[in-house]
Amino acid sequence: MSILTKDYYDILGVSKDASKEEIKKAYKRLAKKYHPDLNKSSNAAEKFKEISEAAAVLGDDQKRQQYDQFGSADFGPGGFDFRKAGGFDFGSIFDEIFAGFSGHGFDIFGGNRRRGPRRGRDVLYDVSITLEEAAFGTKKEIEIDSYVECNKCNGTGAKRKSDIINCPECNGTGTVRHARRTPFGMFATQSTCRKCQGTGEFIENPCPECDGEGRIEKEISFEIKIPSGVDTGTRLRVEGKGEAGEKGASNGDLYVNIHVKKHKYFERKGNDVYVHVPIPFATAALGGEAEVPTIKGKATIKIPSGTQGGKVFRLREKGIPDLHGYGKGDENIIVQIDVPKKLSKKQKELLKEFSGSTKKKGWFF
Ligand SMILES: [Zn+2]
Ligand SMILES: [Zn+2]
Repeated sequence: MSILTKDYYDILGVSKDASKEEIKKAYKRLAKKYHPDLNKSSNAAEKFKEISEAAAVLGDDQKRQQYDQFGSADFGPGGFDFRKAGGFDFGSIFDEIFAGFSGHGFDIFGGNRRRGPRRGRDVLYDVSITLEEAAFGTKKEIEIDSYVECNKCNGTGAKRKSDIINCPECNGTGTVRHARRTPFGMFATQSTCRKCQGTGEFIENPCPECDGEGRIEKEISFEIKIPSGVDTGTRLRVEGKGEAGEKGASNGDLYVNIHVKKHKYFERKGNDVYVHVPIPFATAALGGEAEVPTIKGKATIKIPSGTQGGKVFRLREKGIPDLHGYGKGDENIIVQIDVPKKLSKKQKELLKEFSGSTKKKGWFF
């Protein structure tokens, strides 16, 4: 069994110990000779591919070593491909080769230089919601000035369907070619058709509603769903709700920036909420129950006797649900002792008595 291998050195006409610079030079010289845009003979493309493959191997240290050793180089699935070729920067080599030819339209990578219709722009929208809305989710009516598809022509821009014809300038290809004489011979350049801007279509009678644009500017409103757990800085993306694209192109997206308004009582830290709750002096001293607000109604907490001001009681999972579904935050209740400002005669007497009975344990005596 024998493996037929190509002699890459022979193909480029360089010696086995040629330097990288010599290989590059040889390739440039041959590329000028065989590039399909510069050489119209039938075997030029094949020859060009062969020299490019050789240059891709010999220009890459690792591939060259492998080739020298085993007589082949591994290009991975699909064989040799410019887009994946290592070694030389082919793009810059071609730029050098074609420098001075303005508007050359060749694209060795099989890409497409013609400009298609533009996608619609993305739209940013700011929305303010309350903490409760952030916690439980809500729906908001959005009103924006936007471009929408013209419904008279369904976005085609034509008065009637039969008004859409192949562009006469480019025969519907979207590109035009010009032959030009160059030092290397006849050189074909390719550029986007100006008449149809690359769409390949020409409209004989434009839609009167949108002047052939295919879209019209309009104030639109629709409802969006805001999920529970959002916070200031959360950005929601609503696909396809941005501006309508040009004929045949997709819509942009709508991005909704969330701003959560400051709450009267609750302070939010991540998914936890904090609230200061005053409790009567007697409840703190003797123990009892206190009613506290939560983001969803009220709750009752037990106050042990001897509770000091600043003590934090935690209500598990009474905070904000996580936006991504990872549980819920807690509510933290920071108690403040409500010292009465006005006391009845009887209360004063009782407190004095109380004060006297605790003197020995006091700090100051
Ligand atoms: Zn055209
Ligand atoms: Zn229209």
